[in-house]
Amino acid sequence: MALIVQKYGGTSVGTVERIQAVAQRVKTTVEAGNSVVVVVSAMGKTTDGLVKLANELTDRPSRREMDMLLSTGEQISIALLSMALHQLGQDAISLTGAQVGIVTEAEHTRARILEIAPDRVKRHLEEGKVVVVAGFQGISQTSDLEITTLGRGGSDTSAVALAAALQADCCEIYTDVPGILTTDPRLVPEAQLMAEITCDEMLELASLGAKVLHPRAVEIARNYGVLLVVRSSWTDEPGTRVVAPNPQPRPLTGLEIAQPVDAVEFDTDQAKVALLRIPDRPGIAGRLFGEIADQSLNVDLIIQSIHEGNTNDIAFTVVQKNLTKAEAVAAAIAPALRDNPLDTSQAEVMIDNRMAKVSIAGAGMIGRPGVAARMFSTLAAAGINIQMISTSEVKVSCTVDVADCDRAIAVLCEAFEVSSSPVISAAKAAAAEDAVPVVRGAALDLKQARLAIRHVPDRPGMAAHVFQLLADRGISVDMIIQSQRCRLVDGLATRDIAFTVAQADAVLAKETLDAVAPQLGCGEIVVDDAIAKVSVVGIGMIQAPGVAARMFKALAAQGINLQMIATSEIKISCVVGEADGVRALQAVHAAFDLAGSQKIVVPA
Ligand code: ADP
Ligand code: ASP
Ligand code: MG
Repeated sequence: MALIVQKYGGTSVGTVERIQAVAQRVKTTVEAGNSVVVVVSAMGKTTDGLVKLANELTDRPSRREMDMLLSTGEQISIALLSMALHQLGQDAISLTGAQVGIVTEAEHTRARILEIAPDRVKRHLEEGKVVVVAGFQGISQTSDLEITTLGRGGSDTSAVALAAALQADCCEIYTDVPGILTTDPRLVPEAQLMAEITCDEMLELASLGAKVLHPRAVEIARNYGVLLVVRSSWTDEPGTRVVAPNPQPRPLTGLEIAQPVDAVEFDTDQAKVALLRIPDRPGIAGRLFGEIADQSLNVDLIIQSIHEGNTNDIAFTVVQKNLTKAEAVAAAIAPALRDNPLDTSQAEVMIDNRMAKVSIAGAGMIGRPGVAARMFSTLAAAGINIQMISTSEVKVSCTVDVADCDRAIAVLCEAFEVSSSPVISAAKAAAAEDAVPVVRGAALDLKQARLAIRHVPDRPGMAAHVFQLLADRGISVDMIIQSQRCRLVDGLATRDIAFTVAQADAVLAKETLDAVAPQLGCGEIVVDDAIAKVSVVGIGMIQAPGVAARMFKALAAQGINLQMIATSEIKISCVVGEADGVRALQAVHAAFDLAGSQKIVVPA
C-alpha cells in the first residue's frame, strides 16, 4: 500500500462541483489501495480577495494580522472537501497547519518550515481516514503558537514538505493545466507539455516566473528525493515528472533551513571579456549586499564587473516591492564607496584570461539574502578580491584571481560547512551523460525591478552579433552581463557588456571581437521597474554554443531592445521593457521550437 500526498490548487477547488470532483478522485485513489493525504489551497481567488479587503483598510497591514486573515481561506476548503468525502462514504478529517504540527519560523507572511510532526497524520491514516490538510500555513515554534503563512503559492511547499516528513511514495500536484509546459499557456497558446524535467531546471523556471510550482517545493523535493508529479485535475493524463538525482540523506529537522549551501564548486578554466565605478577592494560587495540583506531584501541578479583604475561596476535586481528600500540602501552608500563621487570616466572593452570561478550552490539559498553576502564577506576576510559576480537562484559565482582559487575554496568550505568541492557541477555531469534538450522551457517574469550601477552601441541585434561571432568559432559563453545604462560616446548611445568564456577560448574571443570592435563602435544607479525578464532554461545549453545568440536574434528580429542580460550555467535571462514582455516570451518560445500542436486547455 502506497502513501500518496495529493495537492489541489485554488482553481481545482474553486466551486462546489470542483470540490466534489476532487473528492471523487481522492476516493478513487483510496479504493486503489493507497493511503492519501490531501493538501488544498483556498477556493479560487479567495486569497486575492482577502488581500484586497486588507488593502481597503490599510496600505500597511500588520504581517501577523495578514497571516491570521489569509490562513482562513484554506480552512474553508479543507472543511468542505472533508464533507464532500463524507458524502461519498469516505472517512476523512480536516486539519489546520497547526493541528498537523507544521512548525515554522516566526516570520509572518514568509515563514519557512522547520519540521513537521507526523504522528497525528499517521494515526488518522491508520484509522483509515483521508487526512485533508490546509496548505500554505503553519504554526510558530514560540510559546505563543502564532499562525504563520509560507508566502503566496505556498501550498505546493506544504504538500512536498509533508511528503518528505511522511516519507510518502509520491507527491502529486493537481492543477488547472496538464502538467509543466514549455511556458505559460496563458501567454503562449502553443506551449507544450513536458513528460519530464529535472529539479535543477524546474528550480530555475519556478524562480524565473513559472508559477505552476512554488520554487521552495522543488527545493524540498530535490533535497529529500521526493517523487514529484504535476498533473491536471480534470483528466487522467500522467502529467510531468520532476526528477532529482538521489539526494544525500539529511535530517527532517530544520527542513527548509538546514543547509543553505550543498557544494562549493570551482572552475579554473575561465576568462572574461568585460566593460566597467566603486572602489576595487575586498569587502565592498560584502558591505553593499550585507546592508541589502539587513533589509531582508532578496537580490536576484548580482553583477559586478572588473576594475578600471580602482573602480568597479556592480549591478543587481530585486523584486519590485523591495525597490524603494534597495534603492535607498544603495543610494545611501554609493557616494561613500566612490573615491571621487563626480568621476564619470568611461568604460572600455577588457579581457582577462587568468581567472577562476568559485561558486556556492544549493537550493537552500532561495529567498535568503544573507547567503550571498556571507560568501562575499568570507572572501573579503581572507583578503581575496572578487572580480565579477553572477548569480542564479541557486548559485552565486565569483571570479577571483587564479592564484587565490585554492584559498577561496578552503575558506568557503569552512564557512558553509561543506567538505567536498566537486570540480564540475551536478548539472554539468548530467548534461554530459544524456542527450538532454538545449532549452527545456521559457519563462516570463514581470515581477522584477532593476537596479544597476552601469559601451557597445545600443541597438537591437548587437548582442546577437557579438555572440554569434563567438558561437561561430565554437566558443561557449557562460556568464553574460550587459548593464542597462545608456552613455553617449562620440554621439552614439552605448551600453556595457560583460561575459565569460572558457580560458582556452579567450585569445580567440578577444581577437574575434578586436577585429570587429572598431566598426561596431563599441560606466551609478539607475532604476526601472517597468521591466520584464524573459528567460530560457535547459541543462543542455552547458554544452551548446550559440544558444544565447539564438535568443538575442529572436528578440532583435522583433525590434525588442535588450536592457540587461544575465546568465547562469543553465539559464539565460534578458531584461526588456515591460510592454515588450509577452511578445519577447512568444518570440523566444518560437525560436527554440518549443511549440507543439497539442491544444492546451486552460480554464478561465
Ligand atoms: P494552482 O492554483 O493549482 O496552484 P497556479 O495558478 O498557482 O495553480 O499555477 C498554475 C498556472 O501556472 C497555470 O494556469 C499557468 O497559467 C501558469 N504557468 C506558468 N508557467 C507555466 C508552465 N511552465 N507550465 C504550466 N503552467 C504554467
Ligand atoms: N492560497 C494561497 C495563495 O493564493 C496559497 C496557494 O494557493 O498555494 O497564495
Ligand atoms: Mg499555485
